[in-house]
Amino acid sequence: MLTVRLRQTPRRVYVMGQRTRWGNCSAERNLSFNWRLILAPEFVIRYLVTHEAVHFAIPDHSAKFWLTVQSLCRETERAKQWLCRHRAQLTVDLGEVLTRAPDSGRLR
Ligand SMILES: [Zn+2]
Repeated sequence: MLTVRLRQTPRRVYVMGQRTRWGNCSAERNLSFNWRLILAPEFVIRYLVTHEAVHFAIPDHSAKFWLTVQSLCRETERAKQWLCRHRAQLTVDLGEVLTRAPDSGRLR
């Protein structure tokens, strides 16, 4: 488990409806993730959890931070590209997700 490998655990984990970010790590060691990530492929979710958890040890986005994230998550670059391509989805409402056809619910 990632938190065991990092020897860090969050105080609380929140799932929220923020419209400007996919995830966050607060100074109080709380992690929050955007509920819209349910639409994302698993490798993207794995990357985001890794990204926020590494912030426990390294609060900035320094070269050391990215090397650590990449060493824990091989699909970092692919996930970053996916998140960049789907940035507009941060403003999707729950109603829009629920009214999609079952086979088109997952974003491409
Ligand atoms: Zn970050």
